[in-house]
Amino acid sequence: MPTATISPLGFPEAVLPESARQLRLDVRDFLDEERARGTVLGRPDSWLAGWDPAFTRRLAERGWVGMALPTEYGGAGRGFLERYVVIEELLAAGAPVSAHWVSDRQAGPSILQHGTEEQRRFFLPRIAAGKCFFSIGMSEKSSGSDLASVRTCAERTADGWRLTGTKMWTGGAHANDYAIVLARTEEAEDKHAGLSQFIVDLRAPGVRIEPIHLMSGEHRFNAFHLEGVHVPEAMLLGQQGDGWKQVTGELAFERSGPERYLSTFPLLVSLLRELDQRAMTAEQLTQVGILTARLHSIRQLSLGVAAALDAGASLDTQAALVKDLGTRLEGALVDSVRSILPTPADPHATPGSHAELLAFALLHSPGYTLRGGTNEILRGIITRGLEQH
Ligand SMILES: Cc1cc2nc3c(=O)[nH]c(=O)nc-3n(C[C@H](O)[C@H](O)[C@H](O)COP(=O)(O)OP(=O)(O)OC[C@H]3O[C@@H](n4cnc5c(N)ncnc54)[C@H](O)[C@@H]3O)c2cc1C
Repeated sequence: MPTATISPLGFPEAVLPESARQLRLDVRDFLDEERARGTVLGRPDSWLAGWDPAFTRRLAERGWVGMALPTEYGGAGRGFLERYVVIEELLAAGAPVSAHWVSDRQAGPSILQHGTEEQRRFFLPRIAAGKCFFSIGMSEKSSGSDLASVRTCAERTADGWRLTGTKMWTGGAHANDYAIVLARTEEAEDKHAGLSQFIVDLRAPGVRIEPIHLMSGEHRFNAFHLEGVHVPEAMLLGQQGDGWKQVTGELAFERSGPERYLSTFPLLVSLLRELDQRAMTAEQLTQVGILTARLHSIRQLSLGVAAALDAGASLDTQAALVKDLGTRLEGALVDSVRSILPTPADPHATPGSHAELLAFALLHSPGYTLRGGTNEILRGIITRGLEQH
């Protein structure tokens, strides 16, 4: 798909392939089986908080982890739109997908694009089998929005690199196998130059993981200290000095997917279940209708970006717009659900009850518009995209 024909706020129409219909039914059957096992609990934010490696492996057996990776590397060789259908079903159901989330969405495609043949042959089949989990090691204490200012440094040694620094908010570093770390390999006047990416073994000597607890008390995040960690030469990802280009190249994949508007969708499902037991008022029905219409329109935009990715085009401005609209809706949905059916949020209520799910979604809500780039930063990207046009 030629990008030149798409204006910065143009969204290509997405037509789901014929195969998507059957795929969706297959995923729903699988989810029914998993519900019967008690593994799919319909919880919000399951791509961040639903950690279940055994579920991931069963998903992988169906070919639904790393499904867009080529078959020669163990993937299913399917398109981004087919992957989209699978993940929107999983997220809408609140399935526990966080163990493989980063490997599937980011690490796999990144290694495929920038990795050496040796890295592809080693990592990609393990990712697609649901047996190798990755963290993102980008942010630092004073380098979140201003990511190019990272201070973690990589010094050359006789047989590789020595990494020193501290990454912050490293999701899953206490449980995953590897992290892709952005580090400075050279001092440069232009702060975007001289950065490189490394695949770091999270069990290597010199790695120290310090928990950061969420408001809910959950341990999902960490300060990830690299205290002179040896990284072999073979674990440099891509070209030395190309780190910034590589990181920004991943953004359309990271910012436009269904996880950017479906994190709180299971709460809407829970609300509908509650309302089903009562006579719904016209006002409640209208409010549910408004939420559904907003969800539907953002889904169409998100699918448009997926269609462009499927065709090999990258729409960064549109991806930023989807994330801004989608993540704001995630928070607004929680507020609307509270006003449609006033319920005291209670984290200690019966797990899976509406009051407990509401508390869970509320306690997670500060993160929706921060993770993956804040909304202020996204609006800067959208503005620049429009100005350049
Ligand atoms: C739930 C969650 C999960 C995360 N997971 C990971 C992870 O796994 N790995 C990882 O590396 N990082 C992760 N992060 C970190 C995330 O990428 C950063 O929090 C984010 O980029 C913002 O950076 P910061 O926290 O340093 O805030 P800051 O950059 O300090 O921003 C603070 C505030 O200032 C505003 N601001 C900053 N600069 C500008 C500007 N130029 N114009 C206008 N406003 C501005 C921001 O919008 C924000 O409101 C996660 C964060 C959260 C909340």
